[in-house]
Amino acid sequence: MTTTIIGFPRIGAQRELKFATEKYFRKQITAAELKKVGKKLRKKHWKQLQSAGIDQIPSNDFSFYDNMLDTAFLFNALPTEIANSSLSDIDKYFALARGYQGDAGDFKAWPMKKWFNTNYHYLVPQLNKSTSFHYNGGKIKTEFLEAKELGIITRPTIIGPFTLLLLSELDNTVTIEDFTNDLLTAYGDLLTDLSSNGAEWIQIDEPSLVYDLTNDQIKWVCDFYQKLLASKGTSKVLLQTYFGDIRDIYRQVLNLDFDGIGLDFIEGKQNKKLVESGFPTEKILFAGIVNGKNIWRNNYQQTLDLLHDLPAEQIVLSTSCSLLHVPYTVTTEPFSADVKKYFSFASEKLTELTELDLLRKKKQLNLLQTNQELFVTPRVTENPELHQKIENLTEGDFVRKPDFEERRKKQEDALHLPLLPTTTIGSFPQTKQVKHARVALRKGEISQVDYDEFIKQHIQEWVKWQEDAGFDVLVHGEFERNDMVEYFGQRLSGYLFSKNGWVQSYGTRAVKPPIIWGDVSRTEPITVKWSTYAQSLTDKPVKGMLTGPVTILNWSFPREDISLEESTLQIALAIQAEVLDLEKNGITIIQIDEAALREKLPLRKSDWNSEYLNWAIPAFRLVHSKVHATTQIHTHMCYSEFGDIIKAIDQMDADVISFEASRSNLEILQQLQDQHFKTLVGPGVYDIHSPRVPTKSEIVNGLHQILAKVPQQNIWVNPDCGLKTRGESETKESLVNLTNAAQQVRKEL
Ligand code: GLN
Ligand code: ZN
Repeated sequence: MTTTIIGFPRIGAQRELKFATEKYFRKQITAAELKKVGKKLRKKHWKQLQSAGIDQIPSNDFSFYDNMLDTAFLFNALPTEIANSSLSDIDKYFALARGYQGDAGDFKAWPMKKWFNTNYHYLVPQLNKSTSFHYNGGKIKTEFLEAKELGIITRPTIIGPFTLLLLSELDNTVTIEDFTNDLLTAYGDLLTDLSSNGAEWIQIDEPSLVYDLTNDQIKWVCDFYQKLLASKGTSKVLLQTYFGDIRDIYRQVLNLDFDGIGLDFIEGKQNKKLVESGFPTEKILFAGIVNGKNIWRNNYQQTLDLLHDLPAEQIVLSTSCSLLHVPYTVTTEPFSADVKKYFSFASEKLTELTELDLLRKKKQLNLLQTNQELFVTPRVTENPELHQKIENLTEGDFVRKPDFEERRKKQEDALHLPLLPTTTIGSFPQTKQVKHARVALRKGEISQVDYDEFIKQHIQEWVKWQEDAGFDVLVHGEFERNDMVEYFGQRLSGYLFSKNGWVQSYGTRAVKPPIIWGDVSRTEPITVKWSTYAQSLTDKPVKGMLTGPVTILNWSFPREDISLEESTLQIALAIQAEVLDLEKNGITIIQIDEAALREKLPLRKSDWNSEYLNWAIPAFRLVHSKVHATTQIHTHMCYSEFGDIIKAIDQMDADVISFEASRSNLEILQQLQDQHFKTLVGPGVYDIHSPRVPTKSEIVNGLHQILAKVPQQNIWVNPDCGLKTRGESETKESLVNLTNAAQQVRKEL
């Protein structure tokens, strides 16, 4: 055994799984038809890995929605009311993924959270007194046997107990200890079952081991695995970690009876040093040396040097994390050969692994030379003017004047908003029509003028609709945008776009991150035309709508030849120019979304400031530091936890922020109160990731909860996030309930 990967993308090279699943949601295909699509994709991917020469192939990395949800299902850890409902298994599964309203009941979806420092989101299992874990012999075995029938003995993968528990939400009636014995039995049954069915290796993913660990956690992990591995059967067990190093538990892990240890040598800064301090001869090191997150070619010489330094006797070459986080292939992309040669997507990474394997065995040395050519000469020509501008930035460029309180008064006088002002996050439903118009424009079937007219008509309709629904601050609806990052990238220099470079974000949602190829700058206004048009239709303020520099960076594939900080400052200057242009053209409220601020936050707290926040927060301030006091700056952040960076968020010095909050039960409120959050705040009052329509009284309740923790003059009322993925009628119903709820609660104040 010489090469493997941790996991492969599953949505299909043409996003087949997404389309089939959505068809199933719309009742256009049956469950059996959907399952057939899944089966076909699994087969295709296994065969692809096999023919690429990967000699140990994972299984159960496939999922119809999410692997955490799969794991909860495999262990029958569903809420009782769903388990006992009349829904079929697959509908129970999707009910937890996206909520269900119908004959079988009214079920809310599980919350969704960011998967470590990626843009993938997992479903958060909700554990309480009635939860128990029992291995049901389902998906993981079915898929193993399915591959076996094709003649492929795969390595089934499963999320490990520590990560499962750490990422789940336990209510206050239970602790981790309450589940330990259950889980020991459940994982024990899983190992026995798979090994008796012929699994030679089983992969247990424990990415949570890369966090800062407490002594209790270390002890829990050691005790658990000591017991579990005592009865592991004939299968070998790989402990797979990723997204960082395991400095807190490395020594202990070596003493456990794992047959293989998987370490990430890309993001795991200390893993090399740890292995150099000793690695047992009888264990196999699964070395994550090909970057599972970025799309640049591997530097073979550097990798070979690293491998040379690792004292392990047996090394299997692997990826740093699952390839879930990169697109399928670069071969079909519309780049010239001169550009393509720098890229490596999931399929190309397979080749890199097998080539590196040849090279470490001193075979086909010509491969090394071709690879080195990519790195010896600079890839792009630089923009010296921009570099100078960044060098000349001073402290004052990062500070907005006057201070928050003074601005606040001026803005109150200028804007005359009621208490609990209502607004939305920016986008309205991207209906089929809207998407078709964009495709038609791209194909040249309609002219730019026709397209613009079409967009204007939508803006007009929705501006009117928002006025009628009673919104205080309107938006234009973002109909002209395909995606909040790609749209800006396409209008900035220095970007490249793939045609089909989709990466799963959650469930059936995929994003196509643009690629930062060179120095980034703005060459012309980007959003001014649409914002000013919308503003011309109404006396109410219309928010300008921009994406912030940190999010643009975090949702792009970044360069590896300059620092993230430098790239972000380049983007910040470009967006700053846009902000000033909007202001000059009469836009008085400007929202700069930092949906993905948390994305690149280091997993270890000790690194937060020094490695990230110290430049990311100032980069945001640079964007708005030069606007007038009366211009109100909003920002928005997406689903993830904020409590622990609430101070840093306040330091972004925006005037208003909206948060995703409802699917995490408004848990942010306590933090806002405890930390005396200064920025005005709109914690989302309903979950937009589900088609479910919130009732007025639910929203009223939410507002009461918010009022209990946040001063009433500081509160804004808005949904959780943009509405582009929602249907039109559910959106309108929900928003009317929202403004009605706000009106009712205002009367109580
Ligand atoms: N303004 C964007 C929208 O409404 C924000 C989206 C997001 O936060 N992901 O779509
Ligand atoms: Zn959002």
